[in-house]
Parts: sequence; structure tokens; C-alpha cells
Amino acid sequence: MKFLTFSQDGATHLGAHTDAGIVNLSAMLRESIGGSADVPSDVAGLIEAGPEMLELARKAMQDTTRHSANRATPEARVLAPLARPGKNVFCVGRNYRLHIIEGNLAAKRDPNDFPKAAEFFSKPWTTIIGTGDSIQRHAKHTRILDYEIELGIVIGKGGVNITRESALEHVFGYTIINDVTARDLQKRHGQWFKGKGLDTTCPMGPWVVHRSAVPDAQALNMQLDVNGEVRQNASTQDMLFDVPSIIEQLSAGLTLHPGDVIATGTPSGVGFAMIPPRCLEPGDVIRARIDGLGELVNTVIE
Ligand code: MG
Repeated sequence: MKFLTFSQDGATHLGAHTDAGIVNLSAMLRESIGGSADVPSDVAGLIEAGPEMLELARKAMQDTTRHSANRATPEARVLAPLARPGKNVFCVGRNYRLHIIEGNLAAKRDPNDFPKAAEFFSKPWTTIIGTGDSIQRHAKHTRILDYEIELGIVIGKGGVNITRESALEHVFGYTIINDVTARDLQKRHGQWFKGKGLDTTCPMGPWVVHRSAVPDAQALNMQLDVNGEVRQNASTQDMLFDVPSIIEQLSAGLTLHPGDVIATGTPSGVGFAMIPPRCLEPGDVIRARIDGLGELVNTVIE
């Protein structure tokens, strides 16, 4: 199932994306459970409510005859599925072989200098926007704004010291993330946080696909284009550290909670590694697609 958060009539609702459009899952759950029941009003609420609520949602959606009466209106706007996680968005740096090589070449390092352990950093929730929202250019603060398509993991069951073997049981689902980066700030400030932390630089969505619908997260094609020109085109099978390994390494001595989000790194084709380097400018339209996870579209503004 594809779960999303949308706004309609001045309120936020949990939705499900179907081939016929968005269905108001909050309304359907209220009908199934009883009018006054406490039902989730967004994806974060669904995940926090646990497996029983997920099962109720699944059952409610099975009755397709109820979909048309609960269809979202044309005015509905899809929001970021998880607008304010309890922690920063966790991110993995340098996790695709070809991207590591292009980065090493751009920095005049040994091209085959691969990380021995996952490199983690984070983005504050103020970076998060949804599909259709605008990315600010931040021209006053950065000269070089860049894109990075990434597979996003959404944690469903919390835990600490999660093993590789049980890691996937802790995954709720997957989404698309664009880890927009101010390259000059990333370099100037030593640590990556500042260059990764500007407002609106974490487009996420359009929805979260439950893991039951993603049989193999290491076999997904991913593609990002800018104004129709393909820049990144890869598969998640090129990851140096796969999804279970990332969860195992991150959760070692660090508790993960339901609704935590982890961006798993970007493949090659980023703008700063092109010859000559190319950066994002106002008016650029960025489309990020991953097999089965939909399309995340954002425009850069002044
Ligand atoms: Mg990244």
C-alpha cells in the first residue's frame, strides 16, 4: 500500500494512493471503527499507532466499493509523508560505488578510496518539503546548490542494536528523498551538517510504500532529471552498505523510533562532479523516480 499525508479543507488527513487517485483513509477508518474513534491524521500517526491500525487500514482499503465516496477532492494537496520526524532525518554519505569514485576524482583523491563504515550525518526537519513544493535557491548563502536522489527508509518498529538479520522487520516502508546540498557550505564548515541543513532541502515523498510491496529494496532502478535531462540513473544494487547493514550500523547503541527516516546515499551523476560542474538555478524542475515508489517533483525558486 502507498500511504500519504494530504491537506484538504484546512485539515491534514491520512491518505492511500490508488490507481484511481487518492482515497481519504482517515475518513474510511473513522467509518470502520466508529465516528468518534481516534484515527491517524497523517502517515506518522499511522506508524505510531502500530500493526493493529495498519491491519485496520488494510482491511478498510480492501473494500473498493467505498473508495469513490472517500476520494480526495481536486483541491487536495499532497504533503511530505513525514513532515516532522522525532529526530533529524538520518543520512548516509558516499554509499554508491560510482558516486564515491566521481567524488574522489572531483576532490583529486584516490578514486578507489571507499569508506570502511557507513558515514552518517543528518538534516533538521525544517529541510523537509513534499512533492510539488519549492526548493529555495538560497543564493545569498550558497553558490553551489546540488541534487541527490536517494532511497529513504522509514522505520516502523523501534529498537537499539538491531541486527542485520532482523533489520527489515523494523522497516515500515520506503520513500524517495532528494538530499539537496549546498556544496560550498558542505566543504567550508568541515562537517556536512550546515551544507545539508538549509530550509526546503529535503524533498520527500510523494508517499511511503509499505515494505510488503517492495520485495527487494536492493533491486530498484532510480532516475533523476533536471528540466528533462537525465542526470542520475542507477540501481540500489550499487549500494556499498545495503539497507540491513545501514540499520545495523546506525542502531548500534542508538535507539531508533517508529517514524524515523534514513536516507541511504546517492548514486553518481551529481552536478558538482560534472565537467564543468553544474548547479541548480531558479526555474529548474527536478524529477526523482524510484521503481514502485512514484515520482517526487520540485521546482527551484529564487
Ligand atoms: Mg546524500
